[in-house]
Amino acid sequence: MSPLDQSPNMLPPVRQLPPFRLFRPTTPAEAVGILGSEETPPICYAGGTDLCLSVHEGRSVSSLLSLNTLDGLRGAEARNGTLAIGALATLDELSTHDQVTAIPGLAEALGAIANVRIRFRATIGGNVMARRTAYEVPILLAALDARLVFESSVGRRELRAADIWTAGDLGRSLLTEIEIPLTEGLALDYDRTLRPWMTQAAATGGIERVAVGTRFLRPALLSGDPGESAESRFSGLPGEFNDVLLTRGYVTGTGAALLKRQRARLAKG
Ligand SMILES: Cc1cc2nc3c(=O)[nH]c(=O)nc-3n(C[C@H](O)[C@H](O)[C@H](O)COP(=O)(O)OP(=O)(O)OC[C@H]3O[C@@H](n4cnc5c(N)ncnc54)[C@H](O)[C@@H]3O)c2cc1C
Repeated sequence: MSPLDQSPNMLPPVRQLPPFRLFRPTTPAEAVGILGSEETPPICYAGGTDLCLSVHEGRSVSSLLSLNTLDGLRGAEARNGTLAIGALATLDELSTHDQVTAIPGLAEALGAIANVRIRFRATIGGNVMARRTAYEVPILLAALDARLVFESSVGRRELRAADIWTAGDLGRSLLTEIEIPLTEGLALDYDRTLRPWMTQAAATGGIERVAVGTRFLRPALLSGDPGESAESRFSGLPGEFNDVLLTRGYVTGTGAALLKRQRARLAKG
């Protein structure tokens, strides 16, 4: 036995996984039908980058539903005043997509997540549906006031991206699309210089929206008149916004300082 095998932190190799059922639907409707009819809904599998991690963390898998065999749910297009992004679009694809680059700051933000190997596999939908506070796409989408579109056997449901944390069990729902309203002057600035402890997305276009992400807390969304001072924007931070390592006072002061820089960058264009 090698010393590594004796390490208590050693992760189990994938070959130790018990057998599981694999569904390979070819249309979103078929996928939704399977999610709605199986006694225990199979776990959706897109890029698999988070799913593998959660299995290593102890998540048990008795059946998987591959989304990779689905026709559609990729790419991005401007439609009815929104940018509609397919849930299966990869972060890499979106970081150079011409419809995404049309929103200043968004493609750059998506292209800064993880590393290129992960971005090739990781889907935008998987980043949201993993529902991990340390992940960045929900922070960007909250600042952009995005809507998440779900299909299930009981029909279509829309959810504000900022509300993904309180949406309850979504195990029988398929995230199909993400819609970003294309408001006049929409632009995003994403500051991840303090990652992993704190990141901040600020969006203009009508009202100003600031989404603050920390490692262990659900992102806080602060919005209002862009003319308000940065300090006043952060006075709206919820009282309970105390991360394990960052106090509310730290986030308030740092967030306001970051916001001033973000406003300056957004004003420069
Ligand atoms: C080494 C490494 C570094 C990383 N660094 C970063 C980083 O810097 N910033 C960051 O934000 N993230 C980071 N990540 C996380 C990565 O971005 C996510 O794992 C990825 O975006 C998830 O997408 P996926 O397609 O692989 O999802 P999967 O692993 O396939 O799925 C994730 C979860 O979402 C569910 N799901 C997926 N798609 C759908 C759908 N359409 N409908 C319903 N449910 C769905 C799955 O059932 C699963 O529970 C990193 C990951 C790794 C491994």
